[in-house]
Amino acid sequence: MGFSKYKILLYGLLAYMLAAFVWWAILLSKNNRENYTLKKQLSQYEKNISESEVQEVYQAKKNMIIGEGLVFGISLLIGLYLIHKAYWKEIENNKKQNNFLLSVTHELKTPITSLNLINKTLTEKNIPTEKSKLLLQSAYSESKRLESLVDNILTAAEMEQEYTYNLERIDITELITERCKMFENTFGVEIKKEVVSELFCEVDREAFIKLIDNLISNAIKYSPHNKTISIQLSHSANSAIIKVADNGIGIPAQERKKVLDKFYRIGSEETRETKGTGLGLYIANEIVMAHQGTMTIVDNNPVGTIFNINLPTL
Ligand code: ADP
Repeated sequence: MGFSKYKILLYGLLAYMLAAFVWWAILLSKNNRENYTLKKQLSQYEKNISESEVQEVYQAKKNMIIGEGLVFGISLLIGLYLIHKAYWKEIENNKKQNNFLLSVTHELKTPITSLNLINKTLTEKNIPTEKSKLLLQSAYSESKRLESLVDNILTAAEMEQEYTYNLERIDITELITERCKMFENTFGVEIKKEVVSELFCEVDREAFIKLIDNLISNAIKYSPHNKTISIQLSHSANSAIIKVADNGIGIPAQERKKVLDKFYRIGSEETRETKGTGLGLYIANEIVMAHQGTMTIVDNNPVGTIFNINLPTL
C-alpha cells in the first residue's frame, strides 16, 4: 500500500474513532434526559417516586457521563497524539536512514573510483616524477577520506552497542597539534593554532582523535571559499576550552541542535553541495558528553562557525 494511502487510512480511522466517541456521548446524554423526563412525569402519578430523587439520579448520571467522557476523551486524545508522534518519528527515521544509505554509497564510490583511476594512471609508463608525486598525494587523501568514513560508520555502530572509553591522562595540546599537522599535510590547508602548552585531561585517546578530526574535517569541508581554519586551546579553573573555528557556510541557529542528531544533514540531497553521512557531529557530541563535557555551536565573525568544547581538566 502506498504511503499516502496508508496515511489517509490511518487518519480516517482516527477521525472515525473520535466521531464515534462524540456520538456515543451525545446518545447517552439524550437517553438520560429522556429517562429523566419520563420518570418526572411518572412521579406525578406514582406516590413512591419522588421528583427530587428523580432529579438527583438524573444529575448523578449526567455527572458520570461528563466525568467518564472527559477521562475517556482525554485518554483517547493522548493516545492519538502519541501514535501520531511515533508515526512521524518512524517516518523521519526512515527518511534519515535512506538519506544515509544514499550518501554512504556515494561517499564510498567516489574515493574508490578516484583511487582506481590514480592507480591506473600510475601504472602507465613515463610518468614524470612530479606528476606521480601529485597523484600519490591525492591517492593518500582519498584513502584517508575513505578511512574516516568507514571509521565514522563503525564508531556510530559501536556507540549504539555501548562504546568503552579507556580514559588516560593525556596532554591534549600535543594531541591537537599532531592532528592539525596530519590535516595540513594531507589536505594542504593551514590551521591557525593558539594553544596553551601542556594541558592534561583524562580522555580516551582514540575518541579524542575522532572528536578533533571530525570538527577539523567539517571545518575544511564546509568552507568552500575561505579555508581559514583556526583552533584555540585555553583553560579555565577546571576545564579545557577548545574552539574550532572556520569562515565557511555557517550553521543557522535553528539547525544547531538538529545537526547533533544521528544522520542529520542540513538541506536536501538536491541542494547540498557536499557529501557526508550526518554522523560526524553525532559522534563528536557523544564523545564530549561521555567525557562530562559540553559542546556548543556559535556564529563566527564575520561568517562561519565556531564549535566550543569544554572538557574537565585534571
Ligand atoms: P556530515 O558532514 O557527514 O554531513 P556531520 O554530522 O559532521 O555530518 O554534520 C552534520 C551537518 O552539520 C552537515 O551536513 C552540515 O550541514 C552541518 N555542518 C557540520 N559542520 C559544519 C561546519 N563547520 N560549517 C557549516 N556546517 C556544518
